[in-house]
Amino acid sequence: MARYTEAVCRLCRREGEKLFLKGERCYTPKCSFEKRSYAPGMHGKMNAGRPGRESDYGKQLRAKQKVRRVYGVYERQFRRFYGQALRMRGQTGPNLLTILETRLDNVVYRLGFAASRAQARIMVSHGHFLVNGQRADIPSFSVKADDVITVKEKSKETVYFKNLREEAEGRTVPTWLARDLTNLSGRMLRSPERSEIDGNLNEQLVVEYYSR
Ligand code: SF4
Repeated sequence: MARYTEAVCRLCRREGEKLFLKGERCYTPKCSFEKRSYAPGMHGKMNAGRPGRESDYGKQLRAKQKVRRVYGVYERQFRRFYGQALRMRGQTGPNLLTILETRLDNVVYRLGFAASRAQARIMVSHGHFLVNGQRADIPSFSVKADDVITVKEKSKETVYFKNLREEAEGRTVPTWLARDLTNLSGRMLRSPERSEIDGNLNEQLVVEYYSR
């Protein structure tokens, strides 16, 4: 499971943009990036507004780190996903994003059952979800088309899931997924298209980073 010991908000400040890693808080004035939009560390504030020239390697590294941080994946696992994407048919960059997007924790997040990917990851590893009726507590589990994700009957009795129907109402579900809030379940209809995944990620630079 991917964890960061440093404050998560530092990752946004490091990348110079909001990565929305903390759920609802990211949309409020409490967001650290709203208050301090410069890089963390001693020189962050000093160098704010003086971006300097970034090398090609620097750009590739930043692009890779950004994708990794958005999905909350450790370097080792990320590299493994990259290898998997390389072996798949089609373009490696979009393949990599598809692998990340169809991880169970991300699907739970996209279905609106969690406010952030980090929360979804914890809920999955605590065994609150079933895939096709089977317990699935591995966040990196790869969801396939037609797989059905349901909240475990016992978990539905908890306060969190009792309130979830109301809370999730306002969370938009992408068109490659279908959600049934009454039964707290969802189905993956098909793989996501590149245009349906965060357009702010530059997978081409990630490919260039690993092809050096
Ligand atoms: Fe990033 Fe969210 Fe923290 Fe703001 S609150 S800095 S968007 S993780």
